[in-house]
Amino acid sequence: MRVFLMYILLISAASLSAQEHGEVALGQSPGTLHVDSHFAGGNVLVEKLVADTVYFSPDLSGTAGEWFYWNFRAVPSAPQKWYFKATKPNLLTNRGAAYSLDGGATWEWLDKSDHLGDRLFSFSFERADQAVRFSMGMPYTQAHLERFLINLTASSQLQIDRLCMSERGRPVEKLVLGAAREQAEFKVLVMARAHACEMMGNYVMEGMLSALLADNPAMRTLREKASFWFIPFLDKDGVEDGEQGKNRIPRDHNRDYSGESIYASTRSLREQVPDWVEDRPWVGIDLHNPWIKGENNEWIYFVGNANPAISKEQERLVDILAKTHRGPMRFTREEGFLPFGVAWNTGSNYDQGASFGQWAAGFQGQGLMMATTLEFPYAVNHGQIVTADGARAFGVDLMYALQQYLGIEAQ
Ligand SMILES: [Zn+2]
Repeated sequence: MRVFLMYILLISAASLSAQEHGEVALGQSPGTLHVDSHFAGGNVLVEKLVADTVYFSPDLSGTAGEWFYWNFRAVPSAPQKWYFKATKPNLLTNRGAAYSLDGGATWEWLDKSDHLGDRLFSFSFERADQAVRFSMGMPYTQAHLERFLINLTASSQLQIDRLCMSERGRPVEKLVLGAAREQAEFKVLVMARAHACEMMGNYVMEGMLSALLADNPAMRTLREKASFWFIPFLDKDGVEDGEQGKNRIPRDHNRDYSGESIYASTRSLREQVPDWVEDRPWVGIDLHNPWIKGENNEWIYFVGNANPAISKEQERLVDILAKTHRGPMRFTREEGFLPFGVAWNTGSNYDQGASFGQWAAGFQGQGLMMATTLEFPYAVNHGQIVTADGARAFGVDLMYALQQYLGIEAQ
């Protein structure tokens, strides 16, 4: 079990020389800052504190190589501006950091005036003891899912089942919706957080669920004809314990589909999905987020499967989505699909083990219609700012596109 890190950083602003940091105001009352990651999804290493600047990096425990997930809380002793400097490159998005004033329930991107460089941001705390969360994205944990599900409890159509128990003893939810197993003409599996840090997928999933539960002919018919499983947190322990998850040692959850699975959730999926889909046509959608910024990371796209028949089906969904999507997050036919063999999407990426897409491709010709990975960016999409609501709206569009893709006409 990962040990939560807590730091109490004490700094007396009065002891600083004005030259150390041009922003330190003379006569400012001595301030201290408490920084910690002692909460669900929390992650930080505070390396040092100089003047009014906190130097931080992500806790990469259990991760091979560099990654960028961090999520911490800062509480000042006095109203004051503090600076936060990443000690390595590529720890901030091109929108800087996100912050939350309500204990991580909702998130906004920092104001542009606080985004001071690709490693530096600031925040002006308005009062003593104001707890503010900061992160490279918009962290989404079990508590978010529970808040979302409370609003859906009026709907008896959603059943909260369990895929398995995690290694650290947490239930891994399986939300079951739609047609009864025997009556379903189609089966649809939607998953998120194979990589624990990739939280934006959960907002897309919320949108998909909201759409599916809507009381209109299109979605009623979809629910009647198709049976859905949603797995919000494939790596539940990683999500709750604030781990990167991506490039987990010895292999991550999306490389755990060959040989013997080492994680309970992937093992359970491999056991339960074939049994659930039986001989029905099925679709698998695995929600991911790309790298933190830049080329191929700042637009929404589907990752082309190596299997040409599946790739063709993905393109059919992409076409429908490009034509029909209505939400604020831009989606284009051109950038919306990354064919196999292009950019990072090559066979060489899978030395450690098979991905979900590769595993599912093994069912092509035996029921699988399409398996796809969706990459939804953290902060910037075609130049526009990614928001939680924008991601949800994209999820709504995706569900309606899926209805068309399956050829299910509203009745
Ligand atoms: Zn991923």
